[in-house]
Amino acid sequence: MNVYFDNAATTPVDPLVAEEIFKYQREYFGNASSIHYFGKKSKVILEESREYIADFVGCKPKELFFTSGGTESINTVIKGLFFEQKKEKNHIVTTSIEHPAVLESVNFLKNYFDVKVDLIRPNSKGEIDIEEIKQRTGSNTFLVSLMHSNNETGIINEIEKLSEFTKEKNIPFLSDTVQSIGKVDLKYTELGADFITSSAHKIYGPKGIGFLVANPKFRFARYSDGGGQERELRAGTENIPSIAGFRKAIEILKLNSEKEQEHYNNIRKYLIESLQKNFGDGITINFQSKRNLPNILNVTFSYAKYGFDPDMFLILLDMQGIAVSGGSACSSGSLKPSKILIETGKSEKEALSSVRISIGRFNSKEDVDFLVNGIRTVLRLN
Ligand code: PLP
Repeated sequence: MNVYFDNAATTPVDPLVAEEIFKYQREYFGNASSIHYFGKKSKVILEESREYIADFVGCKPKELFFTSGGTESINTVIKGLFFEQKKEKNHIVTTSIEHPAVLESVNFLKNYFDVKVDLIRPNSKGEIDIEEIKQRTGSNTFLVSLMHSNNETGIINEIEKLSEFTKEKNIPFLSDTVQSIGKVDLKYTELGADFITSSAHKIYGPKGIGFLVANPKFRFARYSDGGGQERELRAGTENIPSIAGFRKAIEILKLNSEKEQEHYNNIRKYLIESLQKNFGDGITINFQSKRNLPNILNVTFSYAKYGFDPDMFLILLDMQGIAVSGGSACSSGSLKPSKILIETGKSEKEALSSVRISIGRFNSKEDVDFLVNGIRTVLRLN
């Protein structure tokens, strides 16, 4: 048996979404830019899906662009804003615990265009000080980027507090909302950030599709050149089956949002109780703050108490059929300690002894029992 507790890396496709994609693959093959019947049929689905998703996230349809996911949305904003303003302003403020899509886009501008970057570091609880971000901005700042919630700690940042400031100063503000959408109630207009992002594969939809919501007040250069799709901002034939699947995933979220949040909270509570009952002072539950995602729990196991080799921990868990993460999805597979945990002050060994357990729609209490029992075996308690 295997249990999957790595839902922050990606989620299984909901069977209803899979059916929807299959239907659209078969019946909606027309190019949405074609003027004939087949094209128009696809165009209708494209625009209806845009309207539906825009309503869900609280923006206008014309503010929503379909992209291939979180990474592309983030690249588009960071690089596009810089190029559009003719490289006049050259300063970014962001944090050292953003997703690599942000950190590497920023590094690209730093390496090739000498953009200056201020990276705000978290405290040991994984929290980012909003006041510090504000203080680092200046007349040369063309972007502030702060994620809505962190993919490893699960901590939710106070985006509303920062957006009041960026609005007043007229500085574009990107908030990576990839982990938050579908986990907490979130509306674009209430957040006040200018750019937000989403990825369907984090919410039981297909991989390779997502969106960027962009405030029309700030222009950005397009990411890919070619046909004039997505109002000339993202060239390439639209992926209608995936867009329809994305819409279906959001439809399911919308219908079940209260029940789903309750499910996450129940499983998380049961998980914490089971871990505490089984491992007591042999674990530290990290990053508990007032504002947490309901589906992510980060736990450090004491290698000193249990005498295991931190380098081997994830591999041994995998051998017990347990899929959890020791870092972000992109770096899992390699056994480098999580950069985010290191940034919060953990040693390399502590970071390697830590796991991110991310709960999903299809997890049950029996899965938690299996997980805890597997960990007991790895720690030689069985
Ligand atoms: N931002 C965050 C916080 C993420 O967790 C991820 C995915 O791991 C991404 C961005 C990238 O999204 P995508 O996989 O759609 O490119």
